[in-house]
Amino acid sequence: MPQHSVPQPRPGIMDISPYVGGESSVPGVSRIIKLASNEGALGASPRAREALARVGATAHLYPDGGSVAVREAIGRRFGLDPARIVCGAGSDELIGLLVRAYAGPGDTIVQSAYGFLMYAIYARSAGVEPLLAPETNLTTDIDAMLATVKPSTRLVFLANPNNPTGTLIDSNTVRRLREGLRDDIILVLDSAYAEFVGRNDYDPGQALVDSHPNTVMLRTFSKIHGMGGLRLGWAYGPEHIIDVLNRMRGPFNVSSAAQVAGEAAIADVAFQQMAQEHNTYWRTWTAERLRGLGLTVTDSACNFLLVHFDPEGPRSVAPADAYLRQNGLICRRVAGYGLPHALRITIGRDDEMQFLIETLTAFMDGGGSA
Ligand SMILES: *Cc1c(COP(=O)(O)O)cnc(C)c1O
Repeated sequence: MPQHSVPQPRPGIMDISPYVGGESSVPGVSRIIKLASNEGALGASPRAREALARVGATAHLYPDGGSVAVREAIGRRFGLDPARIVCGAGSDELIGLLVRAYAGPGDTIVQSAYGFLMYAIYARSAGVEPLLAPETNLTTDIDAMLATVKPSTRLVFLANPNNPTGTLIDSNTVRRLREGLRDDIILVLDSAYAEFVGRNDYDPGQALVDSHPNTVMLRTFSKIHGMGGLRLGWAYGPEHIIDVLNRMRGPFNVSSAAQVAGEAAIADVAFQQMAQEHNTYWRTWTAERLRGLGLTVTDSACNFLLVHFDPEGPRSVAPADAYLRQNGLICRRVAGYGLPHALRITIGRDDEMQFLIETLTAFMDGGGSA
């Protein structure tokens, strides 16, 4: 059979390095602490769990195709018009829809060098070339981003604060980015970690969406709400973009379980506050202790820390990661992001962070070379 008769995927697909998620087991180790996927230390809100427990009775019924109740609950929580919200199976789905709706072969998207990997993956899957703008001190550099934009650029993706670096840019700088872009370019503000920030000069993007007809904000239930397993995210944008996303999405793209749990979770403000306070306390505590061990830690506005190890030798990231794993602690190597000497560590529960520091202390004291 001649080679050309084998079905071939569209150009760009085979250039994708598949996204590698955080692992959740280590062979031979029974007690596992997973600090690899930024999933939320406290799990889902008790109110979301109660709602989920009731959904089994109606599992045979298709979900509400418009996710109406959860969009209304989001609207009440943030003072937004539910008609300008669209829900997705995670914000991941919405990233993919935005790329496919507005870009195609020959087009480009722009993101920052250490920005979230899913933008480039969805771009390539649509035959779109991702352009990476250099960063300054592991932080988005607006001028570099603007300089990277080409006539072929259709969308600019900004994770703010960013995963895996944890760094952010303030709301004036984001506005300067928007104002420097052509009006026909969509700026996607991915605010997956907005709830963890707690800074006055930060804005998740609502104001910019309201003042610009070409700006979209993405949010997720996978981080502060601790619902990564249910797959729920949302976009807030101008009517014409929301209309496009509604035409493209599957008719039942959000499961009934995700909808009922999301509706309960978004209203549980007390739980969100508790999760935020927990994260702020343990993020500071953990960063101080890691620095006390001589490690470099990037200042983080998220629910994880990017920790930098020696580029080689006994205190480099590979032996550190191996030692942590032997002790049941799974963190995230980020070589795929161009950060081969760093480990991304999610903020977990109190006992988990204490054990992490105990274990890394033993490693830095020579435990790894035994
Ligand atoms: C986790 C994450 C998302 C959202 O993921 P979903 O689970 O698909 O909602 C989006 N952007 C960034 C930067 C993330 O880290």
